[in-house]
Amino acid sequence: MNCLRRVSRTTGVAAIAEYWLIGLLILASAGCRQSVTAPQTATAYRIDGSRQAIGADERIQVLVIHYTAEDFAGSLSTLTAEQVSAHYLIPAVTRDNHGMPTALRLVDESRRAWHAGESYWRGRDHLNDTSIGIEIENGGYRRTLTGYRAVPYPPDQIALTIALSRDIIRRYHIAPGNVVGHSDIAWRRKQDPGPLFPWRQLAAAGVGIWPAQQRVSYYLGRRDPKAPVAMGGIIDRLGRYGYDVSMQLPAQLRQKAVAAFQMHFRPGDFRGLPDAETEAILDALLEIDAGQGGAR
Ligand SMILES: [Zn+2]
Repeated sequence: MNCLRRVSRTTGVAAIAEYWLIGLLILASAGCRQSVTAPQTATAYRIDGSRQAIGADERIQVLVIHYTAEDFAGSLSTLTAEQVSAHYLIPAVTRDNHGMPTALRLVDESRRAWHAGESYWRGRDHLNDTSIGIEIENGGYRRTLTGYRAVPYPPDQIALTIALSRDIIRRYHIAPGNVVGHSDIAWRRKQDPGPLFPWRQLAAAGVGIWPAQQRVSYYLGRRDPKAPVAMGGIIDRLGRYGYDVSMQLPAQLRQKAVAAFQMHFRPGDFRGLPDAETEAILDALLEIDAGQGGAR
């Protein structure tokens, strides 16, 4: 590319210099000739899509719900200017100037958003690859005189979350058991969307899963809901349901995993103690999964 320009620059220089330069140019042009490659012409082709395989499914398998633990300005700044992101952000005040509830789309659904981090659910890890992430503006925990309290979600914000989630679930055929909180898929380090996120209300609206009280009662039998049960049985059920657990976990981590499950499905008490009600809820959930052919 520079060969011709270098030739013209050599004109008019002293003869002795010209002698050397010509020598150099011969070497340089030889180098140029060696590096020049014939222009590639693209081969014309067409795609024949008339035969379709049955062995395929959606890339998006999981819907992950988060809270931002920041106000709106902070949430937007973090999710747009830092190394974390989500496909959607749902503000606490959900109406824009036209009076229409408005969610912000920060990452196109066709692209990976960086919301899940190290994560696992039902045999898959690195869930950024296979999930849509919704961040909900919520303060997380607020310090009060009597300790830290979870911040409630306004009804309008939940209504918008449900509407958006229903669309996503319908478009990707996401299984009910694959609508999860960040705390379900990364329970070692995450607590969002917290104990006040109304999973039961969402499930009633077709978003996610919630066991029928009748089936929980069936599995509970005559036991006191708070009656202690073996931790091993709870961990085994958590693993079968989809959590990243094993019997090799230290006791403290086993309790933390149980607490994550309880925060989702029994938020009135999520101390992580293995009790009969927790076991019954898990049995009722596993029964739903079995009825759906273990929909994954
Ligand atoms: Zn999160």
